[in-house]
Amino acid sequence: MPSIDGGYRIVLTADRTLMSEYGGGIFLGFSACVPMGLIPDKLYFSLLCPPINVKQNGLVDVAPCGTRRIEATLLDRGFRREDVIVAHPEHLEKVVGPSTKVLGITENDPLGIGPATSTFTGIFGGKAYMEVKFRELLKHPAVVKFQPKIVVGGPGAWQLEPEEVRKDLGVDCVVIGEGERVVSQIFEKACNGEELPGVVYGEPASVDEIPLIRGATINGLVEIARGCGRGCDFCVPTLQCYRCFPIDRILKEVDVNIKAGRRPLLHAEDVLRYGAKGIEVNEEAVVNLFRSVKNYPGVNDVSMSHFALASVASAPEVIKEISNILGIDKKHWFSGQTGIETGSPEMMKRHMKGKCKPFKPEQWPQVVLNAFEILSENNWVPCATLVLGLPEETERDTEFTLSLVEELKPFKSLIVPLFLVSTGGLKDKAESFTLDKMTPKHSELFLKCWKHNLEWAPILVKEWANLSIKNPILRHGLNLIMSYGIKQAMKLIQICERDYDCNIPDMVRDYRNGEIEVQPLPVRLVHQVIGN
Ligand code: SF4
Repeated sequence: MPSIDGGYRIVLTADRTLMSEYGGGIFLGFSACVPMGLIPDKLYFSLLCPPINVKQNGLVDVAPCGTRRIEATLLDRGFRREDVIVAHPEHLEKVVGPSTKVLGITENDPLGIGPATSTFTGIFGGKAYMEVKFRELLKHPAVVKFQPKIVVGGPGAWQLEPEEVRKDLGVDCVVIGEGERVVSQIFEKACNGEELPGVVYGEPASVDEIPLIRGATINGLVEIARGCGRGCDFCVPTLQCYRCFPIDRILKEVDVNIKAGRRPLLHAEDVLRYGAKGIEVNEEAVVNLFRSVKNYPGVNDVSMSHFALASVASAPEVIKEISNILGIDKKHWFSGQTGIETGSPEMMKRHMKGKCKPFKPEQWPQVVLNAFEILSENNWVPCATLVLGLPEETERDTEFTLSLVEELKPFKSLIVPLFLVSTGGLKDKAESFTLDKMTPKHSELFLKCWKHNLEWAPILVKEWANLSIKNPILRHGLNLIMSYGIKQAMKLIQICERDYDCNIPDMVRDYRNGEIEVQPLPVRLVHQVIGN
């Protein structure tokens, strides 16, 4: 598309952390939630979060799926192709000009208060990469100079709902929920120079209203279903309505990504529930989905984003069949994100009854254990989350979770403990969890999870790097950095256990007062990696 001197009328983008493919390692995306400064920026943005390819005119080849949907919605509703473009956030001077009427931004965690970010910043202090990069985007000289209307959407848009937050940031309109039914009116108004509503709530769109993407997505992400319907009370309400896309349109989006050299990454809140009418896994539909995508011309590999442990435990034969279809083995393992959240049947019953269906809350610890066993037998590696600080959680509930994590020790996996963020059904009803509310039992659980991760991480990184990083020097450098980081983290855990009796809040206070030193990465290591 030719560039226009006065800029494009509608420019779509996302912050720099969302405009990276993290070397294809989906777990590495978590790194955007850690505070800036823990590792040198140069190393972070060249190795862990390298930029996606950007053309000379500032346009990108791939973009977040949400950005692609908005682009496609606008084109379907009659906006002209030459007026709507998707650009790199660090090259806005090439696309934003006097003719630019609106800048549409996709955001996951613009204020750095999502569960993962608030956990990491709560402990290490500082601001997370996502927040810093979002603010930088709003202050880009071309945005400041030409002042297009700023519209923000995406999974983290809820954070900008308060008027004072939007005013402070200079955001004109925030779209909370799904964009398809509302964005064309908002962008139309912006293009006509009309005042925008501060907050717009987007209702769930029907499958027919959701347009096909026109360009490839980050890591080849292809949405196969939207919504969830399991109804955990801390989750966002927009996930209530569950819809699946037909296979033929999924394959069309696979095709768009294959043409851009991406392998398909199937995305849904629970990929294993594809084609299900209720909560039970529809074996035929999900197996057919994987087979169709794997057999599509040009597809060698298929990956996926999320799955539910209850689905795994209720349909072990599906896991086996998918592994056969994809040729998964010890060397070529398969991974995805999932939620354990708690080991307490009582917490399950109170806050997430639907998560364990078709099982009962009292069966949950066994369901998790069975699911991990099934996954391990089939060479799937789960990256699981836990929630600390659920409302009315007692010491006994945390003890249940501690015992469960102990039982999960032998399984190749990551278990990430996160602070509860009071959103979704808990908004205004419960307080978010913070470091100062951490009890000794919470600390013990937190340390146990990270010991588990530090034992498995070097193996996972080594196996992943051997397959994914072609440059041997870079591969060696990454392994050195990982083992250095792991040694440092293990040292901190030992200090916490030995000198602080597992009291993380006390240790964090001393760390912030400079009484505990964390050795920075040796300069020679940084140079070794960046230089390659
Ligand atoms: S299962 Fe996951 S996506 Fe579904 S409601 Fe619960 S937390 Fe949300």
